[in-house]
Amino acid sequence: MNQTLAIIKPDATASGAAGKIIAHLESAGFRVRALRMLTMSSAQARSFYDVHRDRPFFESLVAFMTSGPCIPIALEAPDAVGELRRAIGATDPAEAAAGTVRRLYAESKERNAIHGSDSDDNARREIGFFFAESELLR
Ligand code: UDP
Ligand code: MG
Repeated sequence: MNQTLAIIKPDATASGAAGKIIAHLESAGFRVRALRMLTMSSAQARSFYDVHRDRPFFESLVAFMTSGPCIPIALEAPDAVGELRRAIGATDPAEAAAGTVRRLYAESKERNAIHGSDSDDNARREIGFFFAESELLR
């Protein structure tokens, strides 16, 4: 078993898709180990996406991610990182495979419903960004 971080993004909480996305992930075999709802500050969004700070979409991404509540979720499954990336689909929903979360619920390449960690190292960092060790249930 290993762990990864999903974030249901502000477009999906605003459209009322959050519950459906959580159900989708549970049906795909993930166990929820921690979950919270918050509106990220600009400093939090900048820090979370620091790897993208020099990309042309960075300021727009920060504005989007701070525009409303998001739901970080620590998830556990065998090969959690790879399985979540498969379950969410390509960054651009137009390119995401049928049945993936982004294909089902995303609006655009920016407003794409959900985040998924891209490696075990980043999953550890990103889970720690939102949750204390004592908040991860087993
Ligand atoms: N993003 C964007 N425009 C782009 C690429 C990415 O607005 O051309 C946003 C989008 O919300 C994406 C996030 O920035 O989910 C992080 O980008 P990344 O390349 O890490 O995509 P992901 O890992 O989320 O598929
Ligand atoms: Mg990424």
